[in-house]
Amino acid sequence: MQLFDFNFDRGSVWLVGAGPGDPGLLSLLAYKSIKKADVIFYDALLNEKILYLARSKARLIYVGKRGNKKSINQLEINNLLINEAKKNKRVLRLKGGDPFIFGRGGEEIETLSDNGIPFQVVPGITAASGCASYAGIPLTHRNYSQSCRFVTAHLKDGSSNLPWNEFVVEQQTIVFYMALTSVNHICQQLIVHGMREDMPVALVERGTTPEQKVYTTSLSKLPDLINNQEIHAPTLMIVGEVVSLREKLSWFGD
Ligand code: SAH
Repeated sequence: MQLFDFNFDRGSVWLVGAGPGDPGLLSLLAYKSIKKADVIFYDALLNEKILYLARSKARLIYVGKRGNKKSINQLEINNLLINEAKKNKRVLRLKGGDPFIFGRGGEEIETLSDNGIPFQVVPGITAASGCASYAGIPLTHRNYSQSCRFVTAHLKDGSSNLPWNEFVVEQQTIVFYMALTSVNHICQQLIVHGMREDMPVALVERGTTPEQKVYTTSLSKLPDLINNQEIHAPTLMIVGEVVSLREKLSWFGD
């Protein structure tokens, strides 16, 4: 019995989300596409263990930022994808998390579309879902939070002109991606806009991996905590009453 359609055609590009770290969180489509690909373009967020699933003949090409080395830019990545597809390869663009959530997936397939290259998008478990689950923090809960916002603390032009007022509402969880360098700014702005200083906050470092660490504290104390700890990227920041549930619901790691 064929459980679902799987046609990874030559000359096409699959944009696939690999989830936040734990290889067990790959979808079946993601798993099958990794096993089938001729060329795989991956970046820094990807758990490299996942690449062991690739065929021995597959070409694995790193296109992320590492250390101080000059990173390849988005335009170059787009062109590489097109060139490989034109060589009739099965091209896999493998990304951490979900390609459509702060993953520039839209930009990459826009160029494919402009160039008439067939493509498919496979969603992945985004860091907010993965990290929250593995930290024992339900993003919504009937008693504490009826909505959840995913926010990037890092904008394309380097600024972060965010609608802070909209974040300071009752019964809402806010998840900040790419927050590590702006934690002080975020805490300060939320407090200035009226959030209570003792609002529970969590930082999830390297979520869903054996190195996962979760720090919980309050909004006003987080900047100090960061100063006194060595925190490693990638890190996700979760703000809201639901964070206090971790005390009871934590099940993974530390
Ligand atoms: N497309 C990705 C997000 C890319 S933005 C997704 O859907 O998850 C990169 C940010 O994601 C990081 O700065 C961090 O905030 C978050 N992130 C990704 N993986 C993470 C992990 N394993 N643990 C903690 N944060 C993570």
